Amino acid sequence: MKDVMDFDIAIIGLGPAGSTLARLLSSSLKVIAFDKKQAFGNDGFQKPCGGLLAIDAQRSLARLGLSIPTEILVHPQVSSIKTVDLQTGISCSYRREYINVNRHAFDLWLKSLVPETVDVRHDTLCKRVLRQHNGYRVTFVEDGVERDITARYVVGADGANSLIRRTIYPYHQVREYIAIQHWFEDLSSKPFFSCIFDSEVTNCYAWSVPKSGFLIIGGAFDKKNSRDGIEKIKERMGGYQLNFGKPIKTEKCVVLYPSKITDFCCGQDNAFLIGEAAGFISASSLEGISYALDSAEILSGILNGQSVSQNRDYKYKARSLRVKLLCKIIKSKLLTNQVFRSFIMKSKIKSI
Ligand SMILES: Cc1cc2nc3c(=O)[nH]c(=O)nc-3n(C[C@H](O)[C@H](O)[C@H](O)COP(=O)(O)OP(=O)(O)OC[C@H]3O[C@@H](n4cnc5c(N)ncnc54)[C@H](O)[C@@H]3O)c2cc1C
Repeated sequence: MKDVMDFDIAIIGLGPAGSTLARLLSSSLKVIAFDKKQAFGNDGFQKPCGGLLAIDAQRSLARLGLSIPTEILVHPQVSSIKTVDLQTGISCSYRREYINVNRHAFDLWLKSLVPETVDVRHDTLCKRVLRQHNGYRVTFVEDGVERDITARYVVGADGANSLIRRTIYPYHQVREYIAIQHWFEDLSSKPFFSCIFDSEVTNCYAWSVPKSGFLIIGGAFDKKNSRDGIEKIKERMGGYQLNFGKPIKTEKCVVLYPSKITDFCCGQDNAFLIGEAAGFISASSLEGISYALDSAEILSGILNGQSVSQNRDYKYKARSLRVKLLCKIIKSKLLTNQVFRSFIMKSKIKSI
C-alpha cells in the first residue's frame, strides 16, 4: 500500500540555499520549510559570516533577478583587500569588488521572498530525519513541542553541520575547521579589509572586515587550537594599525574545508543536499554564498521538472559547481604554501 505523504518536499534550513530553493519551487508542489532563525529582528540564531558578496554571488543574484535592498548594505564598501603574510611580513593590496552586507539582514531578506504557498516554520529546530517507505519522516521542535511530518523528498539546506548530511552519509567525514569572529568597536583611523596568512597558526586563513562602525577579526582554525589561534592573529595584527579593545561579541561555528572532489555530496534516495550542507564552499576563500544560490537554482530545476531520476540528474547538473570547487581546492593548496605565496606576493602580479 502506498503511504500518503503530508508534503512533497521538506526543506531543512533557510539560509541562502534553502530560501532560494523555497522561492523557486513550483506552487503546484506542497512544500514545508524549517528554519531555526526567527522571521524578523536580531534575536535568536544568526549565522556567523564575513558578509562579503563575491562577484560570483553578485552574478547569481543578478541571474535570479534580485537587486540587493540598500538597508542590507553596510559601510565601507570594498575597493581592495590587503593580503598579509604574518610570517614573512609581506603585504600586498589587490583590487576586489565584493559587496559588504549585514549577513543576518541578507538572510532575513531572502527568507522574506519565500512565497506564501510554502509552509514556513521559523524559530523551529529540525531534530531528526528518518527514511521510511516512499519518503521521510521529519521530527522538529516548534514552540517547545516535538512534532512530525512526512515528505516524499527531503532537502538538507542546513549548512556546515548538516543533520541531513550526517543522516544520509553517516560515515563520510569532510575536513572541518572552527571559524571564530571577534567584533570590536572600530577605533582605527583607516579600517581595512584583509586576508591574513600565518601557517604557524592555521592551515586556512584569517581576515578583518570593517562593518558600519565595527571591525570583525575572524579566522578558521583547527578544532584543538581555535581560541589560541584567534588570540595569536589579533596579537600579530597589532603591528598593522588595527586597534582592538575588548571584543563586544564573539561568534563561533563549524566551517567546512573540502579537500577532495568526493567531499561534495549531492544526496541520494530522494534526499538532496544544497549549499554548504553539500560541501559547496570555496576552500581558497571560504566563499559559499554563490554556491548556495547556484545549487538551489539547479535543484529547483530538477524538482520542478519531469525527471524520473532526480538524484542522478542533480548530481550531473551540479558537476560544473563541483569542478569549480575542485579548482578552489587546488588554489587553496597553493595559497597556503608559504614558498608559493611569498613568490606570488613578491612578484606583485595583479597587486595595486
Ligand atoms: C565565519 C565565516 C565567514 C564567512 N564569510 C563568508 C563571506 O564573507 N562570503 C561568503 O560568500 N561566504 C562566507 N562564508 C561561507 C557562507 O557563510 C556559507 O557558505 C553560506 O552561508 C552557506 O549557505 P547555506 O544556505 O548553505 O547554509 P547556511 O547559511 O549555514 O544556512 C543554513 C540555515 O539552516 C538553519 N538550520 C541549520 N540546522 C538546522 C536545523 N537542525 N533545524 C532548523 N534549521 C536549521 C539555520 O538557520 C541556518 O541559517 C563564511 C563562513 C563562515 C563560517
